[in-house]
Amino acid sequence: MSELQGLVKELGLPKFTAKQITDWLYKKQISSIDEMTNLSKNARDLLNERFEFGLTGYTRVQVSLDGTKKYLFPTIQNKFIETAMIPERDRKTVCVSSQVGCKMGCLFCFTAKQGFQGQLSAGEIINQIKSIEEAGEVTNIVYMGMGEPFDNLDEVIKSLEILTSDWGFAMSPRRITVSTIGIIPGMLSFLEKCEAHLAVSLHTPFQEERQRLMPVQVAYPIEEVVQEIKSWDFGRQRRISFEYILFEGLNDSKEHVSELARLLSGLKCRINLIRFHPVPGTPLKSPDEKTMQHFKDELNKKGILTTVRASRGEDIYAACGLLSTKELVKNG
Ligand code: SF4
Repeated sequence: MSELQGLVKELGLPKFTAKQITDWLYKKQISSIDEMTNLSKNARDLLNERFEFGLTGYTRVQVSLDGTKKYLFPTIQNKFIETAMIPERDRKTVCVSSQVGCKMGCLFCFTAKQGFQGQLSAGEIINQIKSIEEAGEVTNIVYMGMGEPFDNLDEVIKSLEILTSDWGFAMSPRRITVSTIGIIPGMLSFLEKCEAHLAVSLHTPFQEERQRLMPVQVAYPIEEVVQEIKSWDFGRQRRISFEYILFEGLNDSKEHVSELARLLSGLKCRINLIRFHPVPGTPLKSPDEKTMQHFKDELNKKGILTTVRASRGEDIYAACGLLSTKELVKNG
């Protein structure tokens, strides 16, 4: 909002114009600046000179056997991003991308193989929610698509502000979860400025093992990430969860269970166990169902609330860690 107020001032327009514009942008269904009828002709002309208005449509949609959809969107910089829509009985969750590709290099992630190809603007993040076929039915949003949200902090925070402010889409922050691999400064800034839930990718509690899976461990060790979280007051409604991808024979032992219990002791949180989806070119393997259930049960016995996240959209490469638009960039 402050950015818009600054712009209105710069254009020499009355202060209340900012509120009028947000009402048109986020509360009403219009498709051009000329439809902002309570703005003066001069104001509309000035805005038309400076801005393009409207949503960017998707260029492809794939539908999984389980109903999950994967949308492909072009970006301003002529690249492509992917967005997943996961339908469940009583909700429709959109998994948005925050960057084109990613520079974090996690060993198990297909997006990492694409490398980093650019940041998304707040508008491009929101466009992924507003330009899909289910736009009017979205109940939940997760920032778990391509990219590390806190490596694009300003635009991610701006998008969250637009989604949750009264002057914006007025969505409850309790319906939004932002996932990070643990970039501490960005995480603290997010916790301070926004009320949405936080999910942290943990994957192993052991220092060296995590470093091999996730290079970010060198700069921001998980021990420090958890310490920061433990010292934060989350209130009663805000949730903190940890994502744990299970790899066969790597992070599924009883030592992992004990160390996780030690690391997370005293913290009110939940672990979401995710089965690894094989990525071409990695030596990592998927565990079987029995191992998943056993690991879950052992964590629950230690008092850590743990659930298994159902895999969705694997057949169309929409499942966790499988988003990539590398080939499209090359050919596009
Ligand atoms: S898991 Fe997330 S942070 Fe890691 S490389 Fe993939 S997109 Fe980036």
